Amino acid sequence: MLGGGFMAYSLEGSRAVRYACAVLTDNPACVLPADPFELARRAGISLFSLSAVQDHPLWVGFDVTPALRMASAVTLSYPAFCIVYRDGDTDPDRLRFALFHELGHLFMNHYRDYPEQMRFPGSAGSPLEAEADAFALNLMAPVPVVDVIRYNRPRQAKASLFGLSRSAWMRRLDSMDRDRAFVDEEMANLILYHFRDYLLNRRCPSCGRIFSDMEQQNRCPFCGAPDPEWILS
Ligand SMILES: [Zn+2]
Ligand SMILES: [Zn+2]
Repeated sequence: MLGGGFMAYSLEGSRAVRYACAVLTDNPACVLPADPFELARRAGISLFSLSAVQDHPLWVGFDVTPALRMASAVTLSYPAFCIVYRDGDTDPDRLRFALFHELGHLFMNHYRDYPEQMRFPGSAGSPLEAEADAFALNLMAPVPVVDVIRYNRPRQAKASLFGLSRSAWMRRLDSMDRDRAFVDEEMANLILYHFRDYLLNRRCPSCGRIFSDMEQQNRCPFCGAPDPEWILS
């Protein structure tokens, strides 16, 4: 039986979007692709690679591989509260998404509020899993940032810029309209403000200098050459 808490999902996606936006605006170093290790560090959440765990004396006697199963990352509460991830053979985009998914469970308090459902995480079709996926997508590719890049630099708006796999990027594009409804203009402006240095970088084709185009003059402030190229870095 589903607990009453699942009523909270009548607005599917809204909570994940709001949490992702709140985390982004609390986290001023906004560049792409988002870095799950940096976010975890700021939030005081420990991330351990499987190989580090296997070599660590604290973990002798604990085999975490059954908990990981086929997943790239899993959150454990014992013997230490942390996220353990597969290192080595994991595709970096897949791992990044898996870590943001786990961070989503933690930021949205799934383990605290839905302990029964989280005993068997990863069950396909679970609303909590969908919510953690939505959090990851909105943290890695926030709606206002995707909108600006698709408008200004459509050729650069692709999966690799955001560190998403191709299939995750497709899901991002499919969910843009739904998620945009949960980001009001004030929130969109706040997120873009944090990304402004990243989004406003341009390189002059004549003198080669890089500058932040706060004034949106469409010319190089050093030599005056027109149409400096937008660069995302
Ligand atoms: Zn999950
Ligand atoms: Zn110039």
